[in-house]
Amino acid sequence: MQSWITDTMSWPCPLCGGAREFVQPPCVDGHTEDGGECPEWACADCGTAMLIGVALVAAAPVQQRQVA
Ligand SMILES: [Zn+2]
Ligand SMILES: [Zn+2]
Repeated sequence: MQSWITDTMSWPCPLCGGAREFVQPPCVDGHTEDGGECPEWACADCGTAMLIGVALVAAAPVQQRQVA
């Protein structure tokens, strides 16, 4: 079971210049109305909104560790 959806995620924030905690604000665009995921996340520090798509998340090594 994939469980990458959490209340907070850590991503590099372009404004803060480093990894920051991102929170997902309530979706106002109807992304979640059909059971989808809202791609909008906001930096908890500076409030910068970022669109983080599922493809990006899927490409990130969340749980699978690949040792070269
Ligand atoms: Zn949304
Ligand atoms: Zn920030």
